Amino acid sequence: MTRVPNVLKLVVAATLIAGIASEEVRAQTSRLDASGNVREDSYIRIPLSVADQKYAAIDGGRMKDLVREVTQISLANRNDETRYWGRIAGTRGEEMAREWVEAKFRELGMVDIHTQEFDLPTQWFPGSFDITVEAGGKSYSFESLVPALRSNATEGTLDLEAVWVGTGSTADFHGRDVRGKAVFIHSIPAPGSMGHSAGAGWEGAIRRAQDEGAAAIFVIYGISDNFTIWQGLGGGITVPGAFMGYADGDVVKELIGKGQAVRVKMRVDIERRDGLKSASIFGTLPGATDEDIFVLAHLDGYFQAALDNASGISVMISLAEYFSEIPQAERRRNLIFVGTAGHHVGSPGSRWMHDNRETALANAALMINAEHVSVRQTVYWGPEMRMTDIPSPRRWWVNGSDLLTDLVLDAYRTFGVAVWDHIEDRAAGEMGSVARDLPSIQIIRSPEIKHTDQDIPEWIPEAGLEAVARAYAKIIDEVNTLDRSALQPKQRISGR
Ligand SMILES: [Zn+2]
Repeated sequence: MTRVPNVLKLVVAATLIAGIASEEVRAQTSRLDASGNVREDSYIRIPLSVADQKYAAIDGGRMKDLVREVTQISLANRNDETRYWGRIAGTRGEEMAREWVEAKFRELGMVDIHTQEFDLPTQWFPGSFDITVEAGGKSYSFESLVPALRSNATEGTLDLEAVWVGTGSTADFHGRDVRGKAVFIHSIPAPGSMGHSAGAGWEGAIRRAQDEGAAAIFVIYGISDNFTIWQGLGGGITVPGAFMGYADGDVVKELIGKGQAVRVKMRVDIERRDGLKSASIFGTLPGATDEDIFVLAHLDGYFQAALDNASGISVMISLAEYFSEIPQAERRRNLIFVGTAGHHVGSPGSRWMHDNRETALANAALMINAEHVSVRQTVYWGPEMRMTDIPSPRRWWVNGSDLLTDLVLDAYRTFGVAVWDHIEDRAAGEMGSVARDLPSIQIIRSPEIKHTDQDIPEWIPEAGLEAVARAYAKIIDEVNTLDRSALQPKQRISGR
């Protein structure tokens, strides 16, 4: 590590004080990249112990390259008209991600590489849409404004009076007539989470708007930036609706705040596509016994989907690369890697494992789900959500013995994988349906950028990718010193 001499720090400080363009500062520091951001290789990393030196082969820079390769697949499937693009389940984008994973499996010399296909139920896609806000003789259209995921089409073009209800509490709705109008709700995200206040189980404002007779519902998502998000309005919402970003929503708020007449013209076509298919891809690094360890990562995602789930795919491939270098005789168990099908449309791949657990999981010792593993902690600074240089702590899940739980948490601590203070009561995400069928582990983080156009590689810290993959590698090594009986959760006492 190079230390910055004090004299240089003074030069840097003096340059900043003088207000000179930071070009010169960059030239003098090895800690900032060309954009003036803290370099990824300057992030906090826990030094490896002598015993863990072997995990140095798992490298965050290499892992970030894998993330970029997967996000490139999304960019190749961009659609600027509907803005519904990425590695969308049932489309070429998801299929290309599967082909990319399959090619990696082949390069690594895996055996029993095969796909498992699923028929998808009728799938929702936005057709063409045209939504404008009209006020003071001007017409406004907004880049972040897209129909809500799985929302209904309009009957022709709606022409509606706009009404602002703040965050949409009962107090906001009190004495306000929203019947037949376009209701604008400002939804506050839980900082660090894609959960937001207008949804069910929180303020319930979307539901309230429909119950009060709204003709259309507009949800302004966030307290910063201008995210385009693919997000549903919630169960039972049948009126058409849309999401828009904070900055665009602010424009509507200002227009309504002037007291002038504000109207919304809204036409949304929806396509329902039948006959689409999704598939999981399997590859195996054979071990010395007939017992199995599964590593899952879901393939599909919205927009670039760097966190959700190029980050998990990168961990899966990196584990495969690492263990492919270990002689088969020293790999106690088969490592079965699965890029799973259609996560955002019902997870048929992992559901199949649950439905066929008596056979498919008969010899399973452990399942690891690699999903949303490494994202920068966010901070809000004015109307901007800022990135920090530390991976955000994750929710975590272990289904297994106390021994397994300790072993897993010790590995997280060893490599600096921060987690929440308490285990989740269920495994969120792709592994949800199958997690209780066998010893299973995961960490997962779902921040504000999830399902938005901002789920880009810049949000994914190399140091976090590396720490998680190293921790999972060590967990696999340690689990392979234990018999399956030592990993199983305690039997539930009957009647509880
Ligand atoms: Zn996901």
